[in-house]
Amino acid sequence: MPLEVVEVKARYGCHRASFVAEDGKIFTIMGPNGAGKTTLLNLIAGFIKPTNGIVKLNGRQIEHLPPYKRNIAYLPQDYSLLPHYNVLENLLFPLRCRKVTPEDQKKKAREWIERLKLETLLDKYPHELSGGERKRVALAQALVYDPEVLLLDEPSSNLDLEHQKRLRLEIKRIKTELSIPILYVTHNLTEAEEVSDTVGFMFDGVLIATGSLDDLLLNASNEKIKAFFGHPNILEVESARRLDGPLYEVVCKGMGKLIVSCSEPPTQIIAYPWDIYLSLIPPPGPNMNRFKGKVLSVEAGPSGEIFVSVEVGKQSILAVTTNKTFLQIKPFSDVFIIFKFQRLRAIPSSSNHC
Ligand code: ATP
Repeated sequence: MPLEVVEVKARYGCHRASFVAEDGKIFTIMGPNGAGKTTLLNLIAGFIKPTNGIVKLNGRQIEHLPPYKRNIAYLPQDYSLLPHYNVLENLLFPLRCRKVTPEDQKKKAREWIERLKLETLLDKYPHELSGGERKRVALAQALVYDPEVLLLDEPSSNLDLEHQKRLRLEIKRIKTELSIPILYVTHNLTEAEEVSDTVGFMFDGVLIATGSLDDLLLNASNEKIKAFFGHPNILEVESARRLDGPLYEVVCKGMGKLIVSCSEPPTQIIAYPWDIYLSLIPPPGPNMNRFKGKVLSVEAGPSGEIFVSVEVGKQSILAVTTNKTFLQIKPFSDVFIIFKFQRLRAIPSSSNHC
C-alpha cells in the first residue's frame, strides 16, 4: 500500500484522517477553508508531529521521521525557490543535499528540465520568472530526487486559467510517468473533476468521506458535503418511456425531453451545474440532451468559475463554465446547454439511487 494514513491526529487542525493513496493515482483533498487540508499535508510531510496515528509509505512507518528522511515531495501554497540561485542551481540543490554524485545530479536535473520544458529558464533567477514558470521550476525541484509521493497544496492558485490547465496536464503526465501517489488539495470542482481518481472530503479536521467525485456528488448524504458542492438542478419527470437497455426518454416538466440511464422509470432528474456544457454557438454532434435557452444572469465564482443561470422553456437551469466570454454576455442572449449524459442522476420512484 503506497501511502497509508491511519487515524492521524494533530494538536490542531486535524482530528481524524484515514485513507490510502494508490500509486499512479491522484487523491484530491477537498473541503471548506480551515477544514484541515494543509494540516493533513503537513502531517504527512513531517512538518507537524501527529499526536496519534500512523503514516506508512510503501510499507515503511514514517510518522516519527523528520521531513528530510521521508522521501516526500511537497509543494506548499507558499513555496519559495532559493532567491540567490538560478533555476539550474535550484534544481541541483536538493540533489546536492542528498549527496547525489555530480554526474547523477546533472542527469536528474536534465531529465526534469526536459520534462517540464525549462531549457530557456536555466540562467534566470526566481525574481525573473513569471508565476507559471516559477511553479514549474518548484515542481521540478520537488520531484528531482525521485520522491515516493507528491503533495500539492492548491497548485493552481495565482495562475490564470490557461496556465492552470497547462499545470494540470503536466501533473497528470507526471502521475502516469512516475506512478507515485499524488495528494492534491483544491477547492475548485472543475479542477477536481479534471485530475482526481479519488476524492477525500475534510470538514472541521475530520476526513469525513472518500470515494470518486461522482460518489461524493451524487450519493453524499452528509449535509456538509452537499452544502460545499452546491445545489443541483432538480427536474421533475412528467412521463418516461423505456428505450433499449437501461435507458429512458423522459419528459421533464417545463423543459422537454432528456435521455437518462436508469433501470426503472425515474421521477426526478438531478444535474449539477458543472455537469452541464454551455455554448454560445450550436454545438456539433447529436441533438441528445441539448437545449437552446436564454441567459438570465452571470456571476463570477471565487476560483475562476462562472455561474450562468439559463432559462430553458419554463425552467431555470444553473450551469458553470470557465469560459470568460460569458462574463461579457448580455441577459437574454441565446445560449446552448448540453446535459452530460453520464452525469445525470435519475431517481426512480422506488428508491433513492439509480
Ligand atoms: P484553507 O483552505 O483555508 O487553506 P485548510 O483546510 O488548509 O484551509 P488548515 O490550514 O489546515 O485548513 O487549518 C486548519 C485549522 O488549523 C484552522 O482552524 C487553523 O486556524 C488551524 N491552524 C493552522 N495552523 C495552525 C497553527 N500553527 N497553530 C494553531 N492552529 C493552526
